Amino acid sequence: EKASLGAFRGKETLTQDGVKKIAGANIGSPADVDAALANDAEAIGLFRSEFLFMDAKELPSEEEQFQAYRSVASSLKGAPVIIRTLDVGGDKAIPYLNMQEEENPFMGYRAVRYCLDNADQYKVQLRALLRASAFGDVKIMVPLVTCVEEIRAVKDLVEVCKEELRAEGVSFNEDIEVGIMMETPAAANIADLLACESDFFSIGTNDLTGYTMAADRGNDRVGYLYSWYYPSVLRSIKFIIESGVEAGIMVGMCGEAAADPLLVPLLIAWGMEEFSMSAPSILRTRKTISLWSVADAKKLADEALACATAGEVKAVLEAAAR
Ligand code: PEP
Ligand code: MG
Repeated sequence: EKASLGAFRGKETLTQDGVKKIAGANIGSPADVDAALANDAEAIGLFRSEFLFMDAKELPSEEEQFQAYRSVASSLKGAPVIIRTLDVGGDKAIPYLNMQEEENPFMGYRAVRYCLDNADQYKVQLRALLRASAFGDVKIMVPLVTCVEEIRAVKDLVEVCKEELRAEGVSFNEDIEVGIMMETPAAANIADLLACESDFFSIGTNDLTGYTMAADRGNDRVGYLYSWYYPSVLRSIKFIIESGVEAGIMVGMCGEAAADPLLVPLLIAWGMEEFSMSAPSILRTRKTISLWSVADAKKLADEALACATAGEVKAVLEAAAR
């Protein structure tokens, strides 16, 4: 298998009928960039910024954050780098933030909710991201969005930061893109509305699957419900992609499902552009993408969508992959 993957190194990511896709890497720190590039990443589809915060004893300064973001942006030499703003709470604890214990942290004070409520702190990160955008194609991604109000509030805050930087004579990309991590059923249901407010979408299937199925992946007794083959999850993914495509914005996926060879044809059928994953999966996914034409993928997607159960969906996808 390794030898056959070698043939895909240094190549573009193309469907069998020549539609261009992007195979990107998910990273957790600037130290991960080497492995991403060594595995042929064409972009960084998700830079989880939490590490900067988790590995520290106090909030990282604007300068520290700027250095980290700029380092990644420079290494990518103009290729897109999607940096997600702080996704604190839920499964991601940061001790020195003194967050209160919550009975239901996954539905609590986290991610964009926390950031908007601590706007002065959030502005430090947004300013660092804007400054890094002078050194590469940095894009800002907002996690756990559930409503239009949230993305508008973030964009307003980005404008405030831009105004400050202009007044200080600091350079940044005036057209920096601000996108949404589509990972809640609420966001999925209004993907058409959010697409008008957003420069791109990236589907976070890890959380989207859990929230849609109301099932915690880590809980063995309900783990069987944690699958993106359930029609409810597939329909959400389809609506998100098609809403983004309809609005003319880039749609990618940075959850684990992006590297699932069984799901790839469906994502091609619905028009998804960027597949972002852990670096070692990139070449294999490029190969999988190369095996599908859009027409064949669409036929399979129709078959999959006609299924009523996750088991039937999986059987249809497995038969097609053979
Ligand atoms: C996701 O939710 O799919 C995702 C990529 O983000 P994380 O795994 O960091 O929550
Ligand atoms: Mg997530």
